[in-house]
Amino acid sequence: MVVLAVHGGAGGDGPWRGMTDADPQRVACMQALLADIGQRLASGELAASEAVCLAVECMENEPLYNAGRGSVLDAEGNISMDASIMRGHDQAAGSVVGLQSSRHPVRAAERLMENGWPVMLAGPAGDVFAAENGVEQVEKAWLETQLRRAQWNKWRRERLRPGATDEEDALLDHDAEHDGWGTVGAVALDVHGNLAAATSTGGMTGKPPGRVGDTPIIGAGTWADKHIAVSCTGVGEAFIRTAAAHAVASFHKDRSLESAAEAMLDLVEPLGGRGGVIAVNQKGEVVMPFRTMLMYRGWYRDGVVDVGIGPSFLQSS
Ligand code: ASP
Repeated sequence: MVVLAVHGGAGGDGPWRGMTDADPQRVACMQALLADIGQRLASGELAASEAVCLAVECMENEPLYNAGRGSVLDAEGNISMDASIMRGHDQAAGSVVGLQSSRHPVRAAERLMENGWPVMLAGPAGDVFAAENGVEQVEKAWLETQLRRAQWNKWRRERLRPGATDEEDALLDHDAEHDGWGTVGAVALDVHGNLAAATSTGGMTGKPPGRVGDTPIIGAGTWADKHIAVSCTGVGEAFIRTAAAHAVASFHKDRSLESAAEAMLDLVEPLGGRGGVIAVNQKGEVVMPFRTMLMYRGWYRDGVVDVGIGPSFLQSS
């Protein structure tokens, strides 16, 4: 059995209010990539690590997700993108922090992983490495969308509200717009029984320049070993403080996958870590719990694609 599962970020409070005008485009993106990459994974054409990288690249291309083109803007109105990838069977990993000109941060992370050393690169050195390793470089204006600028303008106006705290200033994407955009991630199990995970983000709207969330931190936002692959989304600081992705792996040693993922969310919640997680294990079991209004998510399993935003899946295809 092969599995490919993806998320497009979590956020929002209260009951899900149904699809927004922009949601069909996000759903179509997930469905298309799950059907295509899932089938190629099933045929044995793709290894798990290439499948998760391609899946995240598709979502980095979709401007309505908060990764690659369409990333959110930091407090100074700039884009800086983080991504990581991990391969389960040998625990090889690659991670980039604060990229500003690479079209596909996850591909930069994958090239680092293939390179073997170092595991992480930050700032301009990450973009230079990416460019030297064939990752397309783009202008800042290409990465930024009108929607993100409008969202940032709104954040800036509201930030000036008396009583706003620093913590409230950096918003999860969905919270800012009451609409869904988010960090993206993928986990996969291939025909050889190998696992991989990848995650990519523009971070949080209004984040201080230089802020690093959980996404590029191996063990926090992303983890894969011989038994499990995990990708997280949510308020990154709490996921860092609990080594969240690795915590799911640790809990899964003596608990079901579902209970392991819920136990991790129990850990991050008291630290303000609203969010969600996707995980797949060696048996091909998949879980996608979240503690927010919504989490964009979907999977390919046994030739079937399911996607969801609110509490239940939308449809099968
Ligand atoms: N985890 C990401 C971060 O803190 C945000 C997200 O998941 O939407 O940068």
